Amino acid sequence: MIDLKANLQSIQERIAAAAGRAGRDPAEISLVAVTKTQPAEVIRAAYELGLRHFGENRVEEAEAKAGDLPADITWHMIGHIQSRKAKRVVPLFHIVHSVDSVKLAQRLDRLCLERAAPLPILLEFNVSGEASKYGFAAEEEDEALLAAVEELVALPHLRVQGLMTMAPIVTNPQQARPVFVHLRRLRDELAAAFPQTDWHHLSMGMTDDFEVAIEEGATLVRLGRAIFNPDLPPWRRG
Ligand SMILES: *Cc1c(COP(=O)(O)O)cnc(C)c1O
Repeated sequence: MIDLKANLQSIQERIAAAAGRAGRDPAEISLVAVTKTQPAEVIRAAYELGLRHFGENRVEEAEAKAGDLPADITWHMIGHIQSRKAKRVVPLFHIVHSVDSVKLAQRLDRLCLERAAPLPILLEFNVSGEASKYGFAAEEEDEALLAAVEELVALPHLRVQGLMTMAPIVTNPQQARPVFVHLRRLRDELAAAFPQTDWHHLSMGMTDDFEVAIEEGATLVRLGRAIFNPDLPPWRRG
């Protein structure tokens, strides 16, 4: 049996300790429980222990579960969105971490026309450059990127709130640090170039590397295995 309560308690302690090492207030960091492959009952159990932020990477799976769960959950879309599924993202999710192209953003923007408020989004960057990963290329001082971001921040029905990345699977979490440093620098550069936009979120850090991510400025950590099945190895993270 998985002891969710004990897992969450230990994660909260680790978040607080990592924040402390960086001189940060742990209240700046939100835990997003990644519930892909977890049934609705397990999500409900985590909700009852106080979690309110849940992340899913597939639209169909999230649709199937969200209807049975409390309405005050904040649903985070963290997976790649195929164009034809964008329509189904908008009514369900409260924030999209995985905006990885201008085309997708434009499509989401059109779909948000009737939404009461702009949809919060993060821009996903492929910092490590792995072919298997989605996201904008993370070159600094890149004219093409600045031009893309200029279009993104002008979309009236979306609201950019920061950046997201996934570090590669590494054996020692310290090896992921340069990826997190890079994302933070990129954020600072974009914040200087587009001061009207809110760039406060850095969605970075997963089960194997969240403490390092927090030391480097993460505001949203996305944890699956650490909460729901700590014994699963990283290559099963899906
Ligand atoms: C699965 C997933 C996570 C959580 O991974 P764990 O290693 O289980 O913590 C975080 N972010 C994304 C985008 C994911 O797909």
